[in-house]
Amino acid sequence: MNKVNYDNLFKETVKGFNGEKKTLLLHSCCAPCSTAVLEKVTPYFDVTVFFFNPNITESEEYYLRLSEQKRFLKEAYDGSVKLIEGRYFSREFFYMAEGYEKEPEGGARCKLCFESRLAETAKVAKEGGYGYFATTLTVSPHKNAELINGIGEKLSQETDVRWLYADFKKEEGYKRSIEISKQYELYRQRYCGCLYSKYAHIKTEDEN
Ligand code: SF4
Repeated sequence: MNKVNYDNLFKETVKGFNGEKKTLLLHSCCAPCSTAVLEKVTPYFDVTVFFFNPNITESEEYYLRLSEQKRFLKEAYDGSVKLIEGRYFSREFFYMAEGYEKEPEGGARCKLCFESRLAETAKVAKEGGYGYFATTLTVSPHKNAELINGIGEKLSQETDVRWLYADFKKEEGYKRSIEISKQYELYRQRYCGCLYSKYAHIKTEDEN
């Protein structure tokens, strides 16, 4: 079966707007990932960033990433991109991940993690009357675009809010995120978010 090109789907979607801007609730995992994605979507959408990440299980790390997200939006977009902060209870993540602690990054725990964050994004998008919902997650080379777009598609069918198909790592999206992060001197974390990913990162560093 041919793989779907989600970058092409993104281009086809926005082309169909014929210059008319739509509203988008964009789930963001951190400021660095939002950089290149915002550059790509703001010409076509009035964007609100939704920071909902109970997977960042250490509160110090969570608030650091959140404050960098706020700083970036202020410095780069000067109020034209709004931010909604979701609830933050890391225990919500730990309950969800129970039994999946030893899964590698990209495995079953991550699928649940994506599903929970995108389900909340779709719910808030529905309540807020947004035209579309999306996530920055696919900008990372470690994140499976097929899996994430499949989750978004399913949630779109359940909530009746349009999912914005995309693979933001394409056309050097990841490289661009590093460039913009350097330009704004953003904090770039070295692990995904949960304690399990932090330990895996430390272990890999120790082994090398
Ligand atoms: S590694 Fe990242 S995506 Fe996977 S469960 Fe942890 S925080 Fe979520």
